[in-house]
Amino acid sequence: MEKIKILYIEDNAENRLLVRRVLETEGYLVLEAEDGISGIRKAKSEQPDLILIDIMMPGLDGREVTTRLRSIPHLEKTPIIALTASVMKGDKERAVTAGCDSYLQKPIDVDRLPDQIEQFLLGKRETLSPEEEVHYLREHNKRLAERLEQKVERLSDISEANKRLVDMSLTDELTGLPNRRYLNRRLREELAMAQRFRSSLSCIMLDLDHFKQINDALGHQAGDAVLQSLAKVLCADKREYDVIGRYGGEEFLVLLPQVDAQGAITVAERLRKRVEETDLATNLRKPVRVTISLGVTTFNEEAINEEDLIRRADEALYRAKARGRNRSVMFGEN
Ligand SMILES: [Mg+2]
Repeated sequence: MEKIKILYIEDNAENRLLVRRVLETEGYLVLEAEDGISGIRKAKSEQPDLILIDIMMPGLDGREVTTRLRSIPHLEKTPIIALTASVMKGDKERAVTAGCDSYLQKPIDVDRLPDQIEQFLLGKRETLSPEEEVHYLREHNKRLAERLEQKVERLSDISEANKRLVDMSLTDELTGLPNRRYLNRRLREELAMAQRFRSSLSCIMLDLDHFKQINDALGHQAGDAVLQSLAKVLCADKREYDVIGRYGGEEFLVLLPQVDAQGAITVAERLRKRVEETDLATNLRKPVRVTISLGVTTFNEEAINEEDLIRRADEALYRAKARGRNRSVMFGEN
């Protein structure tokens, strides 16, 4: 003969073990679930003959799980017995209203449990008076609606937090500018657009001159402040479509969609002059003057991928440094 299957949904492992021992001794097959969601899943797939359910559980509680179980066609008539430690007035009625057939109070009386289970399997159930039914059903619905609202709110908090995490992973912490990861992704996208629409795309790799000396002379904190001020100066009058980000260390990358070589050199020179003429704020009493070197390149048929473009901009930047810094050099220019 096939064993009678009992599903016990309970977050407390000791209770699960205790009940399983008692009921297995009586010849029942005992299945366990440690939370509401997995309990619902198991009840669907295993179709137990009786379900014992703890009321107090994190996540979905016992009453919410019961209401959900009752809406599953083949579980409409399965005995569901609530287990709870609380002895508050109305708890029994609340369990019944949620869809439980009856109620067992914790701690479980192991001597009586087998008899009680047998009674439940034979169809023993609690009923409520019509007045009680109306009263508790209203309360139950109100509570479900409130819990649902809380859960939806929590979900939207989580998706907000996730969005902030994504933003953080694309932002340079020190300057607040887009970071290298973002720049690489954006360059790839802009390059695809430029190729598709046969439009221009230029980029500028720029580097703060003698940054090591600034750090050595003024300290790393002042160095960081210089980078932060420089970031602001670089962004001072960028066009909406331009992208300026920190590529790493004291290197910044500027992406200029729909800007040709001539335009890019103009932008580079404007940036260079502005930096040269601006007092940068630091944590020190005296502001700092710095210069930048810039390597400029423009997308053309030859430079087909983003690595090529970056490499060309880097090469031009290297030349600008070699020629004495504080200047812009176009890739390929002698
Ligand atoms: Mg519990």
